[in-house]
Amino acid sequence: MQKGKINVQTEDIFPIIKKFLYSDHEIFLRELISNAVDATQKLKTLASMGKVKDELGDLTIEVIADKKAKTLTIRDKGVGMTADEIDKYINQIAFSGAEEFVKKFKNKSEAEQNAIIGHFGLGFYSAFMVSDNVEIISKTYKKGGATKAVHWQCDGSPDFTIEDSDKKERGTDIILHISDDEKEFLEESKILELLTKYSKFLPIPIQFGKEKNQEKVEGEKDKDGNDVYKEVETDRIINNSDPLWKKSPTDLKDEDYSNFYRELYPMNFEEPLFHIHLNVDYPFNLTGVLYFPKLKKNLEVQKDKIQLYSNQVFVTDSVEGIVPEFLTLLHGVLDSPDIPLNVSRSYLQSDRNVKKISNHIAKKVADKLEDIFKNNREEFEKKWDDIKVFIIYGMISDEKFYERATKFALFKNTDGKYFTFDEYKKHVEAAQKDKDKKIVYLYATELDEQYSYIQAAKDRAYDVLEMDGVLDNHFINALEQKLTDVQFKRVDADTIEKLIDKDEKLPSKLDEKQQEAIKPVIEKNINKTKFSVVFESLSETEAPIMITQSEFMRRMKDMEKLGGGGMMGMGALPETYNLVVNSNNPLITDILEDKDENSQQEKVKQMYDLALLAQSLLKGKDLSDFIKRSFGLIK
Ligand code: ADP
Ligand code: MG
Repeated sequence: MQKGKINVQTEDIFPIIKKFLYSDHEIFLRELISNAVDATQKLKTLASMGKVKDELGDLTIEVIADKKAKTLTIRDKGVGMTADEIDKYINQIAFSGAEEFVKKFKNKSEAEQNAIIGHFGLGFYSAFMVSDNVEIISKTYKKGGATKAVHWQCDGSPDFTIEDSDKKERGTDIILHISDDEKEFLEESKILELLTKYSKFLPIPIQFGKEKNQEKVEGEKDKDGNDVYKEVETDRIINNSDPLWKKSPTDLKDEDYSNFYRELYPMNFEEPLFHIHLNVDYPFNLTGVLYFPKLKKNLEVQKDKIQLYSNQVFVTDSVEGIVPEFLTLLHGVLDSPDIPLNVSRSYLQSDRNVKKISNHIAKKVADKLEDIFKNNREEFEKKWDDIKVFIIYGMISDEKFYERATKFALFKNTDGKYFTFDEYKKHVEAAQKDKDKKIVYLYATELDEQYSYIQAAKDRAYDVLEMDGVLDNHFINALEQKLTDVQFKRVDADTIEKLIDKDEKLPSKLDEKQQEAIKPVIEKNINKTKFSVVFESLSETEAPIMITQSEFMRRMKDMEKLGGGGMMGMGALPETYNLVVNSNNPLITDILEDKDENSQQEKVKQMYDLALLAQSLLKGKDLSDFIKRSFGLIK
């Protein structure tokens, strides 16, 4: 046996690294498995170049927990290391990396420490976070010369021993003697959890423990002629070493994508709406599959489902700040070797590469949506109602995405027809331009409640948009900023004449004096703080009394609801409406001419209630009184 001292000056590397390198000790398993995968892939590469003499054989990586011996072994059949290589890669590189890390790390602020951590891949050394002692037993693939198997052992201090080993098979065993306060890493359930989390899609099969399976017994049937099964124990393979996102989209069917979705989210039973397969190799390498999930009411719980990988090694599923905000609602996988592996979240968020990737993803998503729209508009329209929340969110929150999305974002009108922004403008421009040359886009938020208003607009050959989504209020505000010649008005924001003010007015049948005479008769019946009476000369066939709420007033109320409390210290805004009296409707003239005050009041009351009813404002006792009164009228 040979003893040695690793040439490092800092004696206290170990405690510092143990404390700071990774707040999550569990990372050690990811690191050691990654090394095993690297070693195996190196071997495969060498073999493909004809540089390996032996048969490769089974290359499965094994993870073996021995609770009695308190060891956890990671075994690969990869390239292995010679004594010289262990000295070079472990004693010198891995340890000096650790030392350099500690020197830089000391006396730094937390932010600086985070940035430093990001630059260090202290993979092998992380084994000491959970072990009192680490052994390496390794046999190189190389033949001849100093290629005997070696046994290295170290307790994390600069002292190590190295001796010959009689290991026969090519590859490396990393044996961790788990320390007492990290005992959980010997538990089967814990190891399984970590392997599933970090190694689920690594490119080399990873085996841990056994699993029970049902196997058909060939040539045997039970008395009813059914197949006979027996329980067999087989090696449990943790990972899918050929994940879908690495394959070529042309080789995949829709079904493959749904199956993979279920593999990613076994607990999510809803089918995704569609997927985007990313495959970028310039200006950086990025693969992945993003799914548009069917959203439930609550957007929050759906967030942060995207998993980030670096060469098939899981990095994080907390992608906030890494992918654009609106895309955090998507599900799926992103894989890029340019996503640094050994980093903290705050580091990822400030990394320039990551920023570039993030912008690029948004662009790719937009491109793909545009593709689908162009190639299969019918399909796109079918999905629009479900995906619009993602797209609108993106358009509101991301300037660049807005520009891209104007090519495929759709408006839907109350007849269920879809238009692009350009198409819609052409569709309504002629009929819906008001006297100030603004094009008025009419919209409804509740097709049933606003039915009569929608109908009135349609009678004028106006078009009405359906804007009933959770984000549509914000979207309308955003659109008015962008489409400067457009103004949005809810169909019930004004009488149909005024909604799109055309400057051509009908003459009024009642003069000002007559209007003054009828006003108090009407006001007697109404709550004057809530309703203000205005006269308008509408067509005879238009209702005698109508209730409207100005677009401005309603938006203020909406904002108030969102912000809670009063606007700018004014206290709560009052709920106010216009009570529009149609001076050309014969029923109004009739009231004016009616000399019986009782009958006059009765008629006004009935008309007023009907107007309330049309706006779904008649409720409770008033509604019940109205119904009774109406029955009385039929008698
Ligand atoms: P990195 O993986 O980033 O190079 P590590 O500290 O994880 O850093 O590993 C240091 C080096 O040790 C590796 O580059 C590799 O040369 C060697 N090594 C570690 N584990 C193995 C292994 N299982 N088989 C062969 N070589 C290994
Ligand atoms: Mg490594």
